[in-house]
Amino acid sequence: MIQLYAPLNFLGFIYREIKQNLTDVEKMFVLIDRQQEVQDAPDAQPLRTNGPVDVRFDDVHFGYDAARPILHGLSFDIPEGKTVAVVGPSGAGKSTLARLMFRFYDVGWPGHPEVPTGRILIAGQDVRSVTQASVRRAIGIVPQDTVLFNDTVAYNIRYGRPEASDAEVEQVARAAHIHDFIMSTPNGYATMVGERGLKLSGGEKQRIAIARTLLKDPPVLIFDEATSALDSANERAIQAELRLAARGKTTLVIAHRLSTVVDAHEILVMEAGRIVERGTHLALLAAHGRYAQMWALQQNADRQDAQP
Ligand code: ATP
Repeated sequence: MIQLYAPLNFLGFIYREIKQNLTDVEKMFVLIDRQQEVQDAPDAQPLRTNGPVDVRFDDVHFGYDAARPILHGLSFDIPEGKTVAVVGPSGAGKSTLARLMFRFYDVGWPGHPEVPTGRILIAGQDVRSVTQASVRRAIGIVPQDTVLFNDTVAYNIRYGRPEASDAEVEQVARAAHIHDFIMSTPNGYATMVGERGLKLSGGEKQRIAIARTLLKDPPVLIFDEATSALDSANERAIQAELRLAARGKTTLVIAHRLSTVVDAHEILVMEAGRIVERGTHLALLAAHGRYAQMWALQQNADRQDAQP
């Protein structure tokens, strides 16, 4: 009975937290942690990040439940300091890669022991063998839609590194081009934001998330690009800020607009849980395959948008 009650109680807790809008993606992961679906191995050690911090997906299979596999044996590498971008239709499994990298779930298809699990390595260490807390310290996420805490702007940025000084908070806000906006609000960095405070636009919230990530300064980054359309000037500016944040970091970009991925070390085109094409932007254009088609479609759409 207690065993049954505990998960229900937990779900109630999560639901209340979401309703109160206290969550953002990272906080969600922390909350879900309490479900203890994914547990530290008894001998788990902290992730060592003193050498090159590359990320490797090695024949990763995954399903959320026994009914349906989602990823079918994915392999790719993100060399240290490089950016790998993932593109593909909705439901292809792009965000699932980010959830697995953060060890929100473990690799493998539950209920199907005949299917290999594969593994995810960060700095050469299987994420299942190290502590979850250390994996999450090593990764910064700029999510699709940042839900801000009902607290001050400063608190929301400082969440990236609670011990940071005011000067450091301001420095990253300047780098993310949100400082001038903050200074124009009634109480500057002490202005309350979130559901019960000042409402921010999608772009402003993303800039806060970028500032928070700059402050955290982790070796690995995940950008889950917003699907909601920003105007093109804003989009270009955010992309420049993302590039700044990604400099020297091992980065996975889940891209909804192809313009973001042009400079990536490698682009993975995913469909239905498989990588169907991979290469640099130029190589993929030359291959005249799915990516080249997607690129042509987007160029057409952009041209139509640009018409008066
Ligand atoms: P989008 O571009 O729309 O964000 P995506 O490529 O990121 O899509 P995922 O979010 O990775 O797609 O989802 C891949 C598949 O997994 C989808 O079919 C989705 O319905 C399923 N899925 C996602 N989350 C869960 C979950 N928690 N439980 C069960 N199935 C899930």
